[in-house]
This record gives sequence, structure tokens and C-alpha cells, in this order.
Amino acid sequence: MNRKYLIAGNWKMNKTSDEAAELVREIVQTVGQQMDVEVVVCPPFTALSAVAPLLEGATVKLGAQNMHPSASGAFTGEISAEMLRSHFSSYVILGHSERRSLFGETDASVNEKVRAAIKNQLKPILCVGETLEEREANETLSVIERQLEGGLKDVDGEATVGLVVAYEPVWAIGTGKVASPEQAQEVHAFIRGWLKTRFSESVSQKMRLLYGGSMKPSNAQELLTQTDIDGGLIGGAALDANSFIDLVTAAREQG
Ligand code: PEP
Repeated sequence: MNRKYLIAGNWKMNKTSDEAAELVREIVQTVGQQMDVEVVVCPPFTALSAVAPLLEGATVKLGAQNMHPSASGAFTGEISAEMLRSHFSSYVILGHSERRSLFGETDASVNEKVRAAIKNQLKPILCVGETLEEREANETLSVIERQLEGGLKDVDGEATVGLVVAYEPVWAIGTGKVASPEQAQEVHAFIRGWLKTRFSESVSQKMRLLYGGSMKPSNAQELLTQTDIDGGLIGGAALDANSFIDLVTAAREQG
């Protein structure tokens, strides 16, 4: 199965609208017309409207970093799927470990968001990953299984079109400690096997699985050559145009 590589930048709480526009201009100028790799940028909410027009006519897509599952209402500080759609987002990162550990998100709340995103034609990038303690206690695969079961509860096979799973070991996020290609591949293969059992062979073969956690141009190739790694969710290295472009180039070289 030939899955198109996906390189997504999670900018987290970085970049004003002007800075975001500058970064996106550089990305679009260099990789904004290629079709070999799907490229997604996920700026903060406040920069979506500055970035969206710069992506017109380019192959780079827009994503958000979170959303509320409700359509509207008294949810101070929150953003709905429809609001993201009106800003031309096509993807949304859900269940990032920072949302889970710092903002109390659970598998159940992530699941509500996943289902609301799908209902609103947003493609979720569902993040899963174990902490260092969980890895050391040999719990990695059971944690991933629990997060997949919880996050994808009541999602049916047809609804998985476009859905992406990102394996992000918490101990590798923003730490400079990257999972070895073997460690990452083991979990990716487990996720693909789980998808096959839960949905079907066809769903498991079509769905893209990203690796995230200190991925950068110098370690991209060894990760991207693994059978079940279909791209990267990039934090720190997505904030610099050259390193992000180099990651897209690394994925193109594998394609
Ligand atoms: C992330 O937070 O999604 C991430 C992968 O961060 P970093 O690349 O900085 O480790």
C-alpha cells in the first residue's frame, strides 16, 4: 500500500500573526506546489486567519491544535469545529500529550472531540504516547491500546477516511531524546495491527501513522524509512522554515 507521506507542523503557542505569515510564506515558496508529500501547518488559533489566504493555490494545508466538541455555547475560551472550518482548517490535532497532562484531557474527552471533528469534516490527528515511567514499566503497548480504544470509541470504519494517528512518546517531545527507529516502528506496527482488528485490513493499510518527538532533519531519514511510519508531527523543528522544509524534503526522498 502506497501511503502519501504527511509532514505536519505543530507550532504550539508560538508565532504572532505576522511571524506566522512570514514562516508560511517561506514554506509555501519552497514546497507549496509539490504533491509528493502532504504538508500541514498548525499555527495557534490567532494566526489561522493570517495564514489561510497565504495557502490559497498552494498544496500546503491548514490545521488547528485543539477544538471543543460542541457546536457553540457557553464555553469561554474555546473554539468549535465549525469555527475552524470557517478559517479553512482541514486538520485538527487532538489529544496531544500537553493537552492531556496540562489541561486534563482524557481518552473520553478526546473521543468526543474526535467524533465532533469527523462530523464537521475536519481530519483529526489523534495523538497517543506513553510516558517514560510507563515505558520503563513495560506498559507502552497497553497504554497505546487504551488511548486508541478510548479515542476511537464509536468511530466507524467509514469515518476513518483522512484520520491520522500520531505516535508521540511523551519522553521524546521537546526533549531532544528521539525514539530509536526500532522503538518507533514497534509501536507503529502495533497501532497498524490494532487498526486492522478494530476496523479492517483496508482501513489499517490506508491510515497514516506519524511519528512525533524531537524529529528533525538529522534523524528523519532513519525514522521515515520504517515500514509503518508515514510521516511526522513536528514541534520544535517546525518553527524554523529551513528545518521544516528539510523534513518535507526528507519525506519526498522516501516517497
Ligand atoms: C509535538 O509536540 O508534537 C512534538 C513532536 O514536539 P517536538 O518535535 O518539539 O518534540
